[in-house]
Amino acid sequence: MNNETSTACMQSTDAQHYLHPFTDHKKLAARGARVIVKADDIYLWDSEGKRLLDGMSGLWCVNVGYGRQSISDAVYTQMEQLPYYNSFFNTTNLPALRLAQTLSEIAPKGFQHVFFTGSGSEANDTNLRLIRRYWDVRGLAAKRLIISRQNAYHGSTIGGASLGGMAGMHNQLGEQDACVIPGIHHIGQPYYLESGQGLSEQEFGLKAASWLEQKILELGAENVAAFFAEPLQGAGGVIIPPASYWPEIQRICRKYDILLVVDEVICGFGRTGHWFACEYFGIEADLITFAKGVTSGYLPLGGVLVGERVAQLLIAEGGDFNHGFTYSGHPAACAAALENIRILRDEHLVEQVREVTGPYLQQQFASLLDHPLVGMVDGCGFLAALVLVKQKGASIFDAVMFDKTVDVGMICREHMFNNGMIMRAVGNRMIIAPPLTMSREQIDEMIALIRFCLDRTLADLQQKNLL
Ligand SMILES: *Cc1c(COP(=O)(O)O)cnc(C)c1O
Repeated sequence: MNNETSTACMQSTDAQHYLHPFTDHKKLAARGARVIVKADDIYLWDSEGKRLLDGMSGLWCVNVGYGRQSISDAVYTQMEQLPYYNSFFNTTNLPALRLAQTLSEIAPKGFQHVFFTGSGSEANDTNLRLIRRYWDVRGLAAKRLIISRQNAYHGSTIGGASLGGMAGMHNQLGEQDACVIPGIHHIGQPYYLESGQGLSEQEFGLKAASWLEQKILELGAENVAAFFAEPLQGAGGVIIPPASYWPEIQRICRKYDILLVVDEVICGFGRTGHWFACEYFGIEADLITFAKGVTSGYLPLGGVLVGERVAQLLIAEGGDFNHGFTYSGHPAACAAALENIRILRDEHLVEQVREVTGPYLQQQFASLLDHPLVGMVDGCGFLAALVLVKQKGASIFDAVMFDKTVDVGMICREHMFNNGMIMRAVGNRMIIAPPLTMSREQIDEMIALIRFCLDRTLADLQQKNLL
């Protein structure tokens, strides 16, 4: 079977040896994994020659689209020159220092320093280390507790999974065991549809922010080190907080002297039509987590933008910071990031998403609201979500939702995949985060495909008597 490249053969080898992330392997083995063999622009091809429109940019990361020869060339050239060296022991390398400088140019105001990691999860672990060090150096070692949110995603290391608020991950960490990091507390998410009934969106935004203040008072501000949040929740289902939420969160963090960590792993590098969503929401963060779009996924890279308040104290008084990774500042990964950022800049992709294609995408996506299955749409920039409902009502709060036993998102996702469209399902929310390069014509093509697949889903649900 060694030299075989038939789909069945690859699937069988895959099932015998390859453990996938977030996967039920018994189920996967029964159906066989889809083998992706190549990609170009916004499309992927599987081993059967079937073309898929990638509405998710891989995993929220391929911001400049697939097939960018100049990124491959930059990496190739760097690998011939210097494939690897570390940044320990008083050494540095050219791509890493240039990338640090470039990031400080495109970052929100007040970010002049960068710590590199290999991934978003490692970057959030780095945040935990930085935060603890910061308060220790300031002589406020009691400030140790972290507040985060339910249904947040901050990665899959022990630190990331503890910070995140995904029940499925917490259950497997074992809250009872010592392995889940102690001192991390979770408040509710700002999800209007979940807990906003009876309030206006803006009233609800203030209420959701007040949960932070309540938690701080309950724990004692003198014990609270930091608040972690995504600007809008990505993996949680593209949940965009009301406009009133962030200014109030900001006020509360300032009032109680709590560091604000904004996880921009999805939102960074143009996703919302700004380089960082901190600009979109007007957030002044202390630490910003990035990964994914920094290289458009061409090579793994993550890191933390460290605000001046933290950076200056740690530089002036912190001494050795005993933390770092073999691949912190990896030259080839940094070369990929530099070329990726050059493309985003020279092709004006961030401005294009903000002013032209983003508004067009939102407008076209909103037209799906006339579909019988679509109860609500939401989005910003190149992120959008729709809510699948059994029956519409006067408002989304009056809509009839599908029974918990019907995984309508998965049913819909199957129809999407089978008809050449990649859209992700999170419960009853179907979400997209397509490459920022999409043209109007490609947006039209995508919306038509989504509509076609929603029709197929509807017919299937009718046939199975699930409506
Ligand atoms: C993907 C993601 C992470 C984790 O990044 P990895 O590179 O997978 O470790 C962290 N935070 C957010 C918001 C993410 O979307």
